[in-house]
Amino acid sequence: MPENIAHALLAWYDENKRVLPWRDISDPYATWVSETMLQQTRVETVLRYYPRFMQRFPTVQDLAEASVEDVLKLWEGLGYYRRARNLHLGAQQVAAEYGGVIPKDVKQLMTIQGIGAYTAGAIASIAYGKCVPAVDGNVIRVVSRVCGIRENVGIPSVKRQIEQQAASFVPQQRAGDFNQAMMDLGATVCIPGTPDCDRCPLQKVCDAYAQEDMDEIPQLPRKNPPKQLTYDVYIIVDNQNRVLMRQRTETMLQGLWVFPMQEEHHKEKQLPGQIRKQLGLAVSDIQYEGEARHVFTHQVWQMALYTMRTNAMQAPEGWRFITAEEMRRITIPTAMKAAVHAAHQKIG
Ligand code: SF4
Repeated sequence: MPENIAHALLAWYDENKRVLPWRDISDPYATWVSETMLQQTRVETVLRYYPRFMQRFPTVQDLAEASVEDVLKLWEGLGYYRRARNLHLGAQQVAAEYGGVIPKDVKQLMTIQGIGAYTAGAIASIAYGKCVPAVDGNVIRVVSRVCGIRENVGIPSVKRQIEQQAASFVPQQRAGDFNQAMMDLGATVCIPGTPDCDRCPLQKVCDAYAQEDMDEIPQLPRKNPPKQLTYDVYIIVDNQNRVLMRQRTETMLQGLWVFPMQEEHHKEKQLPGQIRKQLGLAVSDIQYEGEARHVFTHQVWQMALYTMRTNAMQAPEGWRFITAEEMRRITIPTAMKAAVHAAHQKIG
């Protein structure tokens, strides 16, 4: 059966593969960058970021030598910024420990910052032709349907079973193409919900198709709903027409610039007292600028935006007053997009 699967899938791939800028090149760095960008992100979005990133940092050495600020700026809007920081740290590790050459071995690859089993498998097979699997969510779906694995894929032993099956399907020849074919099949034909089995090259060997329970496989672990958080966001403008911001040190959005925020909504008349308590600043001319909402994987931020003035000569410790020009250069998360717009309305 594995030979049938590889043969059918590779023939389908040759006819139907998506044309993508990171395809048909044997560059482990290109595979690393593209696979990192593709985590939790649609191909269409990555197509807007990948060429620019590769142009700016064409080699692992270029990336290693870049500043983290430059890397984050190029990543701005792509989300999940930890990926960018890890990619940068990983490039520095490759430069320092491997003389700038990305290793071929999956175990060695997995010692590099930000490279997990999936990305290691993708690099080893796509760039180096190694006969190893690359198991992501798409592949889990295809394999569990083809093999009729009906248990919850969140159970470690079930996941291992899927990984072993996936590994047994990878052919000695064209392992990289095979893995990319699996990814394409999962993304375009064997999609979540109701798959398009009439277009599938694996229909004849698919257990779920035979049992007609494709839409019930895979059994996914139950996800916790995202936490709903409310914030007031303060756009505080000083006498030199600059706005107060800080660079986050928290794990979430680390290194990105944000405005002062306070959890929960407060009445407008409470704001001067709240801000004095939080930042030690006296503010005036408070204006409500509307609401904004941003959905992260685990959190939803519902934000009330306020602009205001301060006569303070100095920013509080850990904060900076930023000019409009500087605001365009620093990296600000998409969650702050509406606040940035309101700030530019005030300071240009
Ligand atoms: Fe997926 Fe249907 Fe193909 Fe089976 S036959 S692998 S369920 S698309």
